[in-house]
Amino acid sequence: MTRATPRSVLVTGGNRGIGLAVARRFAAAGDLVTVTYRGEKPPGDEKFLSVQCDVTDSQQVDQAFKEAESAHGPVTVLVANAGATQDRLLVRMSEADFTSVIDTNLTGAFRVAQRAVRGMIRERHGRIVLISSTTALHGAPGQTNYAAAKAGLVGFARSLTQELGPRDITCNVVAPGLTETDMTRALTEEQRQELLRQTPAGRPGHPDEVADAVAFLAGAGYVRGAVIPVDGGAGLGH
Ligand code: NDP
Repeated sequence: MTRATPRSVLVTGGNRGIGLAVARRFAAAGDLVTVTYRGEKPPGDEKFLSVQCDVTDSQQVDQAFKEAESAHGPVTVLVANAGATQDRLLVRMSEADFTSVIDTNLTGAFRVAQRAVRGMIRERHGRIVLISSTTALHGAPGQTNYAAAKAGLVGFARSLTQELGPRDITCNVVAPGLTETDMTRALTEEQRQELLRQTPAGRPGHPDEVADAVAFLAGAGYVRGAVIPVDGGAGLGH
């Protein structure tokens, strides 16, 4: 299916995992998609523009947007997906472990959202989706840094919703639970079983199932400041 008016979409961390599934979903709908990658490029047969960008570096963020804008026009859909973990119990967590996770997951989203809204304000239209986590809402041992960063995205989205609502710019949050990607392949079998025990679906999510929620929010003009869990029921709607 091809969209009558393709949108210029930018997905951070779109080279693998959830970001890649999201990018494929928009491309399949006929949108013009830019993905950022930090290490390896996305698989070669993809119909995306790929731009190297570390979200902890605002100059690289600016350059990625310039390339996206010059190829596809002003970015009107942003998916801030890039994220990383550095799990340790608090007593063993260094300040660097804490701040680097905040820098990637929370400040990284700030950098890309701030850069994106410049063009969105001019267009008087924009859709921003931030990828958080159920950990933001429930917490998890060893993840004080990650949970704080992902919970921060909720306050960020709700504040931005109020700042930019009258300009038809929306900001919403998707909170995935256990989803099959490289990030969760690093879990021990014991951690995985414990998470599945708390999941009514009884199975992990697939990245495409997160993409379903992102695609919905990118088209939903009257859903604002929402947190949509995609967690197999683990949070029973929260
Ligand atoms: P992956 O580890 O498969 O992918 C992480 C992505 O983030 C990669 O593209 C990676 O790039 C990118 N990334 C990490 N750090 C940076 C950085 N500093 N600058 C730019 N890009 C960066 O994880 P997922 O696909 O699972 O995760 C996607 C999002 O979903 C994350 O925000 C994660 O926190 C969240 N999430 C995932 C869950 C899961 O169960 N999988 C559950 C809840 C939330 P590179 O390839 O270069 O490292």
